[in-house]
Amino acid sequence: MHSRRASVDRLTTWLLGSRLSVPEAIAVQLMNGLFTSVPIFLGGIMNISAVAAVAASRHPSAAFIGWLLFEIALGMLRLAILVHGRRAIRAGRTPPCLLSALLSCVWAGSVGFGTYLCITSGDWVLATIACLSAAAMVCGICLRNFGTPRLAAIMVFLALLPCVVAGLRTAEPIMPIISVQLPIFFLTIFSASYSLHRMMVSRMTALNDLQRSELLNQTILQASPDYTLILDPTDRVIFCNRPNSADSDQDSLMGREWMGLLPEEDHALGIQALEDAKAGKSANLVTHHFDASGRKRWFDIIVNEICDGSGRLIVVSRDITHQKKSEEEAIWMARHDALTGLPNRALLQDRLDQMLDDAGPAMTGALLIVDVDNFKSINDTLGHDAGDALLCAFADHLRAAAAGDDIVARTGGDEFALILAARSDAEVERTAEKIFERLREPFAHGGRLIDCGASIGASFIPRDGKLRSEIMKAADIALYAAKAGGRAQLRIFEPAMMVEVDRHQTMIASARYALQCDTIIPHYQPKISLRTSQVVGFEALLRWRDRDGELRHPGLIQAAFGDPVLSGPLSERMLERILDDVGHWVQAGIAFGHVAINVTAADFRRGGFVETILPRLGARGVPPSCIQIEVTETVFLGQSAEDVKDALRRLSDHGIRIALDDFGTGYASLSHLNQFPVNLLKIDRSFVEKIGSNADAEAISATVINLGHCLGLEVVAEGVETADQEMHLMAMGCDTGQGFLYSKAMPMEDVEAFLAFRSRTVPRRERLASG
Ligand code: C2E
Ligand code: CA
Ligand code: CA
Repeated sequence: MHSRRASVDRLTTWLLGSRLSVPEAIAVQLMNGLFTSVPIFLGGIMNISAVAAVAASRHPSAAFIGWLLFEIALGMLRLAILVHGRRAIRAGRTPPCLLSALLSCVWAGSVGFGTYLCITSGDWVLATIACLSAAAMVCGICLRNFGTPRLAAIMVFLALLPCVVAGLRTAEPIMPIISVQLPIFFLTIFSASYSLHRMMVSRMTALNDLQRSELLNQTILQASPDYTLILDPTDRVIFCNRPNSADSDQDSLMGREWMGLLPEEDHALGIQALEDAKAGKSANLVTHHFDASGRKRWFDIIVNEICDGSGRLIVVSRDITHQKKSEEEAIWMARHDALTGLPNRALLQDRLDQMLDDAGPAMTGALLIVDVDNFKSINDTLGHDAGDALLCAFADHLRAAAAGDDIVARTGGDEFALILAARSDAEVERTAEKIFERLREPFAHGGRLIDCGASIGASFIPRDGKLRSEIMKAADIALYAAKAGGRAQLRIFEPAMMVEVDRHQTMIASARYALQCDTIIPHYQPKISLRTSQVVGFEALLRWRDRDGELRHPGLIQAAFGDPVLSGPLSERMLERILDDVGHWVQAGIAFGHVAINVTAADFRRGGFVETILPRLGARGVPPSCIQIEVTETVFLGQSAEDVKDALRRLSDHGIRIALDDFGTGYASLSHLNQFPVNLLKIDRSFVEKIGSNADAEAISATVINLGHCLGLEVVAEGVETADQEMHLMAMGCDTGQGFLYSKAMPMEDVEAFLAFRSRTVPRRERLASG
């Protein structure tokens, strides 16, 4: 079944094909030509039927009558197939090509056969009619079937061969000549038909290519996300593709003037683009357009001339709305803080520059820098979520406190800034008071209430500087002063603040230098028993060598002890040196008593102090009883008091003694002496120096000594400078003295010699005193 179908297909292809290779679609069209040219087809059928009728009427023989009937029957059959084939083509089905071609061949054979009968009938009139009609038939075959040249050739062959044979067989001398002429006639007419066929195929191929390329262009345009418009020479839209979008504007663009599609403000750009394109240059512009739903859409447009001399222009518009949006977002992001949505430092700086540019000599505004107090510890203890929520709440408070035209910005982690249209201290104070007022309400997060305060520094524009950096620095200095003054307050910049800040910065720089160049050298000030005059121990005091080689006191780097970055390394370096020195004395068997080390609350807060000091003592063979820790009363106050208490307890449990330094100057209540494991009290120098001259100071000193003894504590007097003071202290029963009377703090190298000197001289003094 399959192979029969294949051989039928092969026969059809051969019979209806030609030597030219043609694309499939064209081959089908050529085959379908069998069902076209109805007039020629009908003319052929009627013509041959008419010849057969004439023949039958002149010679009513069975052969002619049979021929006539055959032609009529064949004609009707072919007509029916033609009609059926045309319907099939119209319906998109395959017409019966092979059947039609075979019947055509039968018909051509019948023409040849009939003509043969006419020529051989001896009736020259009939023969002439038959020959003429056969020639006409051949013309018809060639004209009608030039699309299928092989079929045409076969049909012509079938129609003419019997004529040639008949011509050669008749006695009439003209007939052989006609018989020879017929093939020549056939060749001529067939070659004309074949060249028609070639022309036809090449035209159809070109047309087919054109259609395919047209289809390709259409597909490209449809698939393109860009709008492509074609403008006629009067700049009206004559073509517009519909890119993959549901934009119903498209149809309404047809026939409209292109300039009318641009917003008014871009008309000049549009006119320029059209002129450039018409001058042969590619023109580009970015513009916007409101779509049917009123959304603003941005387009990047390129206008070019279509180079076919028609004066038409092609306009390709790319929708860049998304890109524009991202750009706008990026610009927003670059100038705002993502967390709070407030303007950021860059925007604030721009606004300050602008105000300074516009500013005359009169006051135009104030810059407030607002710093969240203790933000770092809130962030560290409650987590970053709480920190973020706090910052957002803080931003809301600032927004609410500011007036409509004021600018509120977040300039750093926990730092905000406001630019106010304030011209006087009173106006700044009013806004600051509003901020403090709002911050007084505690902030709730995760079921907890968080107290959140702020310090504010303010400067005036342009009073406190002509440059943005000067205004910002002035506000920063005022902020620093506000924090140094105990936080949660407003300070407005005054030039005197500069001196304090300079001092602070110098201290920080010096501490940094001392750390970097490793010039920290602990010095040791002896502590003397007021009963035996023996050295009972030393206090380690920080000394450092400055750039000029001079030895300096800790007061010159005091600020570094409060600096979050420097205080840790500073204490650590000092502790390491002290432990090395003490370790050395222990190894050398020097009887130095103990060494008292000054420790701050921050040292405990950093954690790990207790855990590390004990193994470090062990590693150097230093018994804990050789170490005292001096803390001031301030460690008992504040949030970390419990931690400090715990740390001191553990140190005390290991035999390290705890001294309460500067006693009498702080704010600790006496109950702290019970709660904390304190072994010694150090009477502050400010009392000791007045002994002998101020009765109150003496009374306080005596009370402290008594109090200490009542609580079972040893009492040390600091800053003993004179023998008179020493005598009074002895009389009051003070246990230990420390001060310049005995010695200033000395480097570790001098300690051994000092101890030797004391042990040599003291017994003598003692003897002298008793003698
Ligand atoms: P402090 O703990 O009260 O130390 C005693 C201060 O009084 C020392 O000053 C000492 O030199 C000074 N002094 C001792 N006897 C006399 C005297 O008879 N007359 C006078 N006028 N002064 C005397 P220094 O060394 O300048 O230390 C000042 C403060 O610095 C110390 O006061 C202490 O609070 C702090 N400090 C010293 N070293 C360290 C340290 O290693 N760590 C910590 N955190 N603070 C330290
Ligand atoms: Ca001390
Ligand atoms: Ca002290």
